[in-house]
This record gives sequence, C-alpha cells and structure tokens, in this order.
Amino acid sequence: MSLVSINFAYIVSAALFIFGLKMLSSPSTARRGNLLSALGMLLAIVATLLASGLSYGWIILGMGIGTVIGLVTAYKVEMTQMPEMVALFNGFGGISSLLLAWAEYHQYPQMSTFIAIVAFLSAFIGGVTFTGSMVAFGKLSGKISQKAVVFKGQHLINGAILVTAVIAAALFAVSPATGWGYTLFILIVLVALGFGVTSTLPIGGADMPVVISLLNSYSGLAACAAGFVISNNILIVAGALVGASGIILTRIMCKAMNRSLANVLFSGFGSAVKATEGDGPQGEVRPASAEDVYYILEAADSVAFVPGYGLAVAQAQHVTKELGDLLEANDTEVVYAIHPVAGRMPGHMNVLLAEANVPYDQLVEMDDINPRMDSIDVCVVIGANDVVNPAAIEDENSPIYGMPIIETFKAKTVIVLKRSMNPGFAGIQNALFFRPNTRMYFGDAKASIQALIAEFKDAD
Ligand code: NDP
Repeated sequence: MSLVSINFAYIVSAALFIFGLKMLSSPSTARRGNLLSALGMLLAIVATLLASGLSYGWIILGMGIGTVIGLVTAYKVEMTQMPEMVALFNGFGGISSLLLAWAEYHQYPQMSTFIAIVAFLSAFIGGVTFTGSMVAFGKLSGKISQKAVVFKGQHLINGAILVTAVIAAALFAVSPATGWGYTLFILIVLVALGFGVTSTLPIGGADMPVVISLLNSYSGLAACAAGFVISNNILIVAGALVGASGIILTRIMCKAMNRSLANVLFSGFGSAVKATEGDGPQGEVRPASAEDVYYILEAADSVAFVPGYGLAVAQAQHVTKELGDLLEANDTEVVYAIHPVAGRMPGHMNVLLAEANVPYDQLVEMDDINPRMDSIDVCVVIGANDVVNPAAIEDENSPIYGMPIIETFKAKTVIVLKRSMNPGFAGIQNALFFRPNTRMYFGDAKASIQALIAEFKDAD
C-alpha cells in the first residue's frame, strides 16, 4: 500500500475518532460513538499492517496474546472493578510507548536532537504512566495499602528525581549516539519507573479514579511522542486526542468535587481514618420499613431516584428500573437524578442505568433537577452519600464544602437506602440522615428495592 493511501486511511481514522469522541458525550449516542472509534482504530491498524517490511509472525503472536487477555478480562471484570481495569490498560499503553522509543533508539542511535527529545518524552512519560498505573491498580484492588504513603522530604526527593531526568534528557538529546547515550537512556527509563511509584504512592486510594484519568492523559501524551519518534501520523493524532480528553476529564472530576488537581495529587485526601458513629452531625434517625416506604411512594406524584456508589455495589440497577416502571404504572412521574461524580468513576451511574434500559429522557443532570427539587414529592437516595450531603453547602468546615450536590434535602420527603450509618467515600457523617423529612430504609439496596417491588405487586 502506498504512503499516500496509508495517510488517507489515517485521516479517515482520525475523523472517526473525533466523531466517536463527540458522540461519547451523550448517553444516547455513546454506544455508536464507541463503535465508530473502534472502527477508526481497526482501519488504522489494517492500514499500518499494509506498510511494507513488517515481520508478521511477531505481530500476529502479539495480537493473539493481547486479544485473549483483553477478551477474558473484559468479560470477567465487574462494573465496580472498571477503574482498576482502565488503570491496567493505561499502564500497558505507557510501557508500549517506552518500549517503542527504546527499540527505535536501539535500532537508529544516530537520531536528530528533535527525535532524541521526543524519544525521551515517550520513554519518560511512558515509564511514569506504567509504574504509576500499577500502583493505582494495586491501591484500587486492595493489593497494596490504600493509605497515602507520605514521608518527610518526599517533595524534595520527587523534585530531585525530576531534575535528574531533565539533566539526563538534555545530555542525551545533545549526543544520543555517543558511548554515554545508552547509559543516559537507561538512566531516564529507571528514573521514570521510580517517579511513577514515588508520585502515586502519596495519593490516597480514594483519589485513584482522578489519578487514573490523569494517567490516561499521560499514556496519550507518551503515545503522541512515540508517534513523532517513528513518524506515524495516526499515533500522533490518537495520542493527542487521548492526552487532551484525559486532561479534560480530570478537570471535570476535580471541578465536580470542588478540589484542585494539586489538592488531589498532594493532600492525601480520603486516606485519613474514617469517621465513626458519634463523629459529625448527630440527631434522631427515623428508620422505615418496606411497608412504610411503599405507602409513601404509592401516594407520590413525583419521585426522583438518586443513585450512588451503593447502587453499583448492590447491583441494584435492574430492580430500580423495575420499581420505576411500577411507579409510572401508578401515574407517578419518575426521574433519575445523576451527580457527575456519583460512584467511583465518571459516568458510573449512566452506565449502570443504561445497562438496565432506563430511558435516556428520564436521566436528569444535577443542574436541571436542583432548581425544581422542592416540587419533588419523594427523593429515593440509593446508596449515595457524599453527593447528597448538605454539609457541602452549609458547613464551611466540612472537607466537602463547596462540592456541588444533588439537593435532595429540599424534596418533600427523602428516603435513604443504605445498610448502616457508615460514611461514604469522604469519610464524613451526613446531616441529611437526621433531617425531619428523611426516612432511613436500612438494608442492601437490591434486597430493599425487591421488598418494595413485592409490596407493589401484593397490592395489585
Ligand atoms: P459514597 O461513597 O459517598 O457513599 C456510598 C454509600 O453507599 C455508602 O454510604 C454506603 O453506606 C452505601 N452502600 C454501599 N454498599 C451498599 C449496598 N450494598 N446497599 C446499599 N447501600 C450501600 O458514594 P456517592 O456515590 O454518594 O459519592 C461518590 C464519592 O466518590 C464522592 O465523594 C466523590 O467525590 C468520590 N469520587 C467519585 C469519583 C467519580 O468519578 N465518580 C472519582 C473520585 C472520587 P453503607 O455502608 O451504610 O451501606
């Protein structure tokens, strides 16, 4: 295949990636967007494979092993483990860029200063992404301590590592083909691998989803640099798209938590000892039985479900939809109010509710539901905690003060489904549970909703 045809195929792939990304921004088009991007990637791979001088044996072996691992993990992974899986994928992307730069340098050490600089960037960012992602994976999966590992002089050590990397890169870029060139390259690789560990260990396990989004961006930037190293246009474009979208997503997540990226990276948030019963707001809790909740729901004209991380843990999305359908059959208006950081990854709730075939027009964003919250008869909070905590608006001393929340406390009645009075991700007690218009319906969310469905069916 001629270079012109390959580049033409790359332009089509790039367009498919961009349209695919655009379509990912709405739940109704996201599936098609994903397919479109996958088609773009297939086209890019096929076009690349048609270039001359490739050793197909190794490529097929690599693709075979990768496909098997990818398929098995994708089928086995639980929805709640998705961030861990993304961490692994980011890490593999990073190490690919590192190895690619290394292989290119090994083959053609007489590189220009520009190529030497991008080879450094590819190896360095790729190395940081690899070990950083492995630490993130370890923390999320509980294989290593989730605590923020903070020690004296940490910033100094990280600073020294970075300075070493920059000096080594400068010397390497001046004369990559000299005897020292190879030693410098190895030093850069080792420093990058070390920096990935030392920069991710101080971040608490709770903040890992944001870190993963950031590492995703790094893996894109490393791939973009690798694209320059081997003069591959589609790698440059795809890497830049991943780099940019990763950083945008990181910003969105930080904004939705009202925290700066620096606070996420350096504060060790969420790693502190969790609050216990007795800490924070106190008051009378009004527990409700399935029967009580049934009567409240049965009489409601409008119900807003507010899902959170507990819905994912309980896998309660299908029963929630079933309850929603029963309420609609009872002439109740039903909406699902989605907070942008409910759950443990961006879009977590959208994905779960889409899996249960909740119609997209029933999904309401936080900014749209809040202004009409006082007209909602019943808010059913399903395993959400921080994202409905009024302290974010009312308590200046709260660690989540300033975080936008779904203002469920303004609804006429609030039913909270959770198993205990334990706090959520931020480790703080929730004043909502003690409000006079709140009823606590304790239990596993799925079992609790199944009991409500039984009440509705018995009443028929
Ligand atoms: P929270 O972590 O605040 O609360 C989840 C609640 O679910 C817990 O209080 C828990 O209470 C309850 N729960 C757990 N399992 C079950 C179950 N089986 N049945 C019923 N309830 C259950 O979740 P939110 O979604 O409200 O908030 C998300 C938090 O994560 C925010 O603080 C956000 O900033 C943070 N975050 C989110 C990210 C994202 O991208 N989505 C990224 C990084 C952080 P109990 O144990 O009593 O049942």
